[in-house]
Amino acid sequence: MLDADFFRRWMTIAAAVIDREADRLTELDSPIGDADHGSNMQRGFAVVRASLDKEPPDTPGAVLMLAGRQLISTVGGASGPLYGTLLRRAGKALGDAAEVSGADLARALRTGVDAVAALGGAAPGDKTMLDALVPAVDAFGEGDFTAARAAAEHGAEATIPLLARKGRASYLGERSIGHQDPGATSSALLFGALAEAAGA
Ligand code: ADP
Ligand code: MG
Ligand code: MG
Repeated sequence: MLDADFFRRWMTIAAAVIDREADRLTELDSPIGDADHGSNMQRGFAVVRASLDKEPPDTPGAVLMLAGRQLISTVGGASGPLYGTLLRRAGKALGDAAEVSGADLARALRTGVDAVAALGGAAPGDKTMLDALVPAVDAFGEGDFTAARAAAEHGAEATIPLLARKGRASYLGERSIGHQDPGATSSALLFGALAEAAGA
């Protein structure tokens, strides 16, 4: 079973991984965006980490809802509301249980990813974070952290040949082809952090 400590660990590891990879995320966002994805994510997750440290919520759902709220209020770019919605909706789906199962987390992540698709109007194949998130949630099953990480990484790499249909990269049309999507890349990092929190 997964408790509030597990979810705090996930968010803390995510903040560290994003810190480490921020330059790469920003570099990916320069040819097909506005070169701010790394700094957007870094700012957002620093605030997430600080607020979880200051007043640690005591249920898994409350951890994810707080993290989601902080991302929405601190990150101005497209990724803030999208990741914020993912975490808030997943947290809400977990309810007020003190511990949740892998199957509960699977359902919650699915709910969160569906909310990202509804908010942004994108689908897999549009060269967005959903190209990593959807395969990751599919592969997660009832708690396969390693498979979810691998599927997210593969999904992020598979955005390279795609034509962007949503977000800033879509303004480039054909010129978006040949570049890896920054948001799909950060999604793979978040699933990597989840696997690390699980010790997988
Ligand atoms: P901005 O584009 O506002 O500068 P970021 O650079 O932080 O925001 O995030 C860009 C990422 O957000 C993209 O690489 C893409 O993965 C994701 N994204 C943008 N628009 C959408 C959308 N409508 N649906 C899903 N993901 C999106
Ligand atoms: Mg950007
Ligand atoms: Mg921007």
